[in-house]
Amino acid sequence: MKFYVPEWEDAVDARYDFVHDELSNLDKQERERHFIWDIFDYETTPIDGVLISREQVEDSQRKYDRVTKHGVYDDPQLTIPDWLPTISDCGAWGYKSLPFPRYGNDDMLEFYEALDVTVGVTIDHLVLGSGKERGRLYLDERAFHPDFTESDLPEELTEQVDIMVDEWPAEWPDLVERYDASIHGVSAVESFTREDFEGSVQGILQRMDRDPRAVYREDDKQVRYEMTLENAAEIRDLYDEGDWSFRLMAAFQGWDPTTYGEAVDEVLEMGYQYVGIGGVAGSQLKQVEEIVTEVGHRISDYQSEHETRVDTHVFGFAKTDGFETIGRTGMSSIDSASMLRAAWTGGNNYHLNPDERFDAIRVRYPQPGDNLDVAVRKSLLGQEMLHALRAFDDEDSISERIRGWYVEADLVLDALVEHLEEHRHDEIYDERLLRETTTAFREHFQYGRELQASFSGYMRKRIVKLLREDDSEDPINFEEYVDIIDVAREVAKEFPQTPDRVEELEDSSGEVATFKQVWTVLEHYAESELIDDADLLEDYRKTLRSRPWDRCDCPICKNLGIEVAIFRGNNRNRRRGFHNTYRFYQQFKRELPKMLVVVDADSSFFSRDSVEGYLSDEYETFWEQVHDIPVAEIGVIDANGVHEWWESGPQSVSLDPRGIADQLQTKAERYDTILYYDPEGEAQSDLETVELIDSATEARDEILGRLGYGSDFEPKRDVQIQLEDF
Ligand SMILES: [Zn+2]
Repeated sequence: MKFYVPEWEDAVDARYDFVHDELSNLDKQERERHFIWDIFDYETTPIDGVLISREQVEDSQRKYDRVTKHGVYDDPQLTIPDWLPTISDCGAWGYKSLPFPRYGNDDMLEFYEALDVTVGVTIDHLVLGSGKERGRLYLDERAFHPDFTESDLPEELTEQVDIMVDEWPAEWPDLVERYDASIHGVSAVESFTREDFEGSVQGILQRMDRDPRAVYREDDKQVRYEMTLENAAEIRDLYDEGDWSFRLMAAFQGWDPTTYGEAVDEVLEMGYQYVGIGGVAGSQLKQVEEIVTEVGHRISDYQSEHETRVDTHVFGFAKTDGFETIGRTGMSSIDSASMLRAAWTGGNNYHLNPDERFDAIRVRYPQPGDNLDVAVRKSLLGQEMLHALRAFDDEDSISERIRGWYVEADLVLDALVEHLEEHRHDEIYDERLLRETTTAFREHFQYGRELQASFSGYMRKRIVKLLREDDSEDPINFEEYVDIIDVAREVAKEFPQTPDRVEELEDSSGEVATFKQVWTVLEHYAESELIDDADLLEDYRKTLRSRPWDRCDCPICKNLGIEVAIFRGNNRNRRRGFHNTYRFYQQFKRELPKMLVVVDADSSFFSRDSVEGYLSDEYETFWEQVHDIPVAEIGVIDANGVHEWWESGPQSVSLDPRGIADQLQTKAERYDTILYYDPEGEAQSDLETVELIDSATEARDEILGRLGYGSDFEPKRDVQIQLEDF
C-alpha cells in the first residue's frame, strides 16, 4: 500500500532564520528550497510517492517549460528522489466548470512521457450533479463584457438551469468535435447580447445548444461519466500502439456505488491493471466506503476469474477512519494533502495522533496597510511573545529572555542613525531593485535583521526605499529618516510589557519557565487590542500544557521545537504540515503495515515479457495464493532491485548474491516486513525485517494474520446496494 502526496509547490526555505524571521535569500530563484523528501531521509520520508497534476505544472509557464524539459526526477527545483514513484494526472478539479477536459489523449501521453513519471492517468471529468430541473448550461466567460455580465442573465433561466461560467481554452481537443461540433474549431468569440437571452427558457436553451459560446446538457452527469470512459478507451488504444516508459492508470467516475461498479467493470474489460477511483475527495466517509467496497468486490471477481492482480488508487482520500475498508477491499494506493493543509487552515493545526490535535499559537505579522506605528507595535508584541515561547521551550527564565531581547532591540535604532549618517551614500545602496538594496542593507547594517524582526518589515522597507533614492549628488533630507525612526522610538518606550510580572512569579515560585509564567505573556498578547485572539486562549492552554512537540520524534520537531507549534508564515506552517504528514504516515503504517512479498529471479526471468508472466509460470502455486492478497506489494528480486508484479520483463538480470542482499537491506528500511518466498530453502538473510518462508499458503496466512484479517477479509456490501442491484 502506497501513500502519495500531491505536489503543490509545498516547499520551505532550507536555511530560514527563525529568530529574525528572515528568508535565507531574498531572490526566490537563488534560495535553496526543501520539499518534504529533502527534510526527511530515505528511511523516514512519510510518503511513498508524489502525485503531479498537469494543472499544477501549468501554474506558470516557467514551471511547465522546466518540468517538461528535465522530467520530474531531473528537474533542478523539484529534485524528487529516484526511489519515489510518481503519478501524474490532468487535475480534474481544475477544469470542473468547463464542459470538456481541456486536454486531448495524444497530448497527455506525450506530456507524461516528457515528465518521465512512473504512472500516467487517463483524462477524467468530475461527475457533478446540477441540482436544477433543467440541467446545466456552460457559458464561455470570454463572451461576457462590462455591458452584459453574468448578473444580467434572466432570473428564470438561472433558477431552472445550473450555470457554469469559465474561460474556455482557445482550442479544444479533438474529442470535443464528436460531442459538440458547434464549439469546436471556433476562432473568434463574439460577445453575448441581451437578445441572446430573450424569450422563454426553452427557447434560450434551444439556441444555446447550437451556440459556439455555450454547451447545454440536460443530464450532464451522464455525459461526464461516459466521456471519462470514452477517454479511457481511446487513450488505451493509443498507448498500446506506442512504446511508453510509464504505466497507464484508468481513472473512472460515478455518482453511487453501482455506477462506480459499472465503470470499473468497463475499464477492466479494456485491459487496465491499474485503475483509479476519482471524484470522492471531500465526500463523506460512509459514501466513500460504500463505493470502495463495491469497486473492491468487482475487482476481486475479476482477479479470481483471470487469476491476475489489479492495483487500485483512491484519489484524494486518506481518512484514517477509512483504513480498515481501504485495506480489506484491496486498494493499493491513496493520496491526500489534507493533513498538510490542515496545518494552516482552520483550527487544530498541529496533529500528534487522530485524537490529539492542538491549536498552533498565532503570533501575527503586521498586516499590509497597517500604519507605521501599528506595524512597529505588532512586531514588538510579537517578538516579546516569541522570546517568551522559546524560553518556555528551553526551560529558561522567560523574564530574562525578554529583557535580553529588548536590550538588543534598543540598540537597533541608535545604531541605525549612525549607519545612515555614515553610509547612506555608499555605492552598495545604488542598486536598481529594491530587493538588491534590501540585501545590501541586511548584509552591511549590523542590525539589519533585527530591525525587521522587532520593528517590522514595513519600517525596514521604508528606510531602504529612502536609501535607494538618496544620492550624494542629490541627497534627501536626513529628517526623512529621522521621522520614521522617531515613530519607532516612541512605540518602543512602551516595551517590554510583561517581564516584571513574570519575574514576580519566578521569584514567588522559585521556578522558571512554568506554564503560569508563559501564560502571563500569552494572555497579555492574545488579549491586546491589536492582536485580538482572546477567543483562542482556551485552545492554546491545551497546546502549552501538553507540549506536543516534545513528544514527536520527527526531525522538524526535534530541530525546531516549539517553532513548529507556532502559527506564523510559510516556513513554520508548511513545516508543521510536513510534521502532520509524518504523524499521519505513522498511523497509516500501524494500521496498514508496509509489507513486501518477493521471490527470486532466475536466468529465465530475462526472456519474459512481464513480471506477472514469470510469477504465474515459475511460481504457480505461490501466485495462486498471493495474486489477490490485500495491502502487501509483490515482486521479483534480483541485484538490480525489486521488479513489481505489473512491470514488463527486465532489461537485464543480475543474480549476484551480495547485490541481492544489498537490495533487501535497502527495502528493509522502508518496509515493516519483507516475506521472502523461498520454497527450496536456499536463501539467507539475517535482517530482522526479512522473513524467509517456504510455503505459499503460509505466506498468505502470514500477510492476512499481520493485518488481522480473516480468510474472507472483504467487507460486506451494503444491504441497500444489494437491494438496488435486484
Ligand atoms: Zn514532529
